[in-house]
Amino acid sequence: MSQVYDRVALIGLGLIASSMFWAIKRAGLANEVTGYARSKATRETARRIGLCDRVCETAQEAVEGADLVVLCIPVGVMGAVAEEIAPALKPGATVTDVGSVKGHVIQAVSPHVPDGVHFVPAHPLAGTEHSGPESGFAELFDNRWCLLVPVADSDPDAIARLRALWEGMGSYVDEMDAEHHDLVLAVTSHAPHLIAYTMVGVADDLRRVTDSEVIKYSAAGFRDFTRIAASDPTMWRDVFLSNKEATLEILGRFTEELFALQRAIRTGDGEHLFDYFTRTRAIRRGIIDAGQDTDAPDFGRGKANT
Ligand code: NAP
Repeated sequence: MSQVYDRVALIGLGLIASSMFWAIKRAGLANEVTGYARSKATRETARRIGLCDRVCETAQEAVEGADLVVLCIPVGVMGAVAEEIAPALKPGATVTDVGSVKGHVIQAVSPHVPDGVHFVPAHPLAGTEHSGPESGFAELFDNRWCLLVPVADSDPDAIARLRALWEGMGSYVDEMDAEHHDLVLAVTSHAPHLIAYTMVGVADDLRRVTDSEVIKYSAAGFRDFTRIAASDPTMWRDVFLSNKEATLEILGRFTEELFALQRAIRTGDGEHLFDYFTRTRAIRRGIIDAGQDTDAPDFGRGKANT
C-alpha cells in the first residue's frame, strides 16, 4: 500500500485513534502522524508506547501543516475542538471525524471549518469495549465497514483520498447520508447498547441473586451483555444525547415487540415464540455469511467485536 497523505493529525488518542495510528503505520499510509489528547497523562502514555511520530502539547500545534485532521474524540466535544483548531488548519487540508453519530457532529463541526478546508465526516464500524491510548491495535478495522458521510459541498478528491486511507487500513468503505446513517446505527448499535446497559443494570438490582452469583454463574447471554455494557460511559452518554430521535424511534418499536413477546409467554403462545426466534436466527446467519462475525462457540469473541 502506498502513502495517501503526507501528514495526518489525530486529535484524541483513545481506542480509535491509536488503532488508526498502528494501521496507518502497518501500511505506510502517511509520512508523519502527529497526535494530541486533552490530558497530560494520555500524552505521556502515548510518548512512552510510541503512539504517534510526534505528540504535541496543543491541538493547534498537532494540526499545523497536516493534510488530514481526524477528530477521534467524544461526539459531545467535536464542535468545541473544531473551533479550537480552525485557525491552525492548512488551506486544502481535509478534516474528518470518527464519531458514532453523524447528524449532530456535522451540525457542530461544519460552522467552524474554514473556507478552503474540506470536511468529510466518517464512522468506522469497529470497536471494542476498551478505551484509551493503550487499547488500540492495527487489525481493528480489518474487514469492517467504514461509512463516509459526505456533506453537501464535500470535495470528490478529498472523499476519494479518505476512502483510500480507510481501505489501506483494512476497511470496506461505503457512503450514505447522515440521517440514514443515524437510523442504521440506532438499529445496529445504539439501541442494542442501551438494552445491554439496561439488562446489566436490572441484574444488578435483583437482590435475590447476589452480586457474586451474577458474576460467578454468568452464562453466555448475560456475559455478552456485560461486555457491551462495559463500554465507555462518556462516549455512550454522548451517543444517546446526540442521536436522540432515531434511538427513541427504535426503542419505541423494541418496547412494542417486547410487550408482544411478554404476552406470548403469559398466554403460552409457543408458536409465536418459535416463529420469532426462527426469524432472528436467520438474521444471525446473515451476519455470519456476510463475514461480520464467526460461528465459533465462543460467540466469535475476538479482539474486534463490538
Ligand atoms: P476513547 O478511547 O475514550 O478516547 C477518547 C480520546 O479523546 C481520549 O484520548 C481523550 O483524551 C480525548 N478527548 C476527550 N475530550 C477531549 C477534548 N476536549 N480535547 C481533546 N481530546 C479529548 O474513545 P474512542 O473509543 O477512541 O472514541 C472516540 C470517538 O470514536 C467517539 O466519537 C466515538 O463515538 C467514536 N467511535 C468509537 C467506537 C468504539 O467502539 N469505541 C467505534 C466507532 C467510533 P484523554 O485521554 O486525555 O481524556
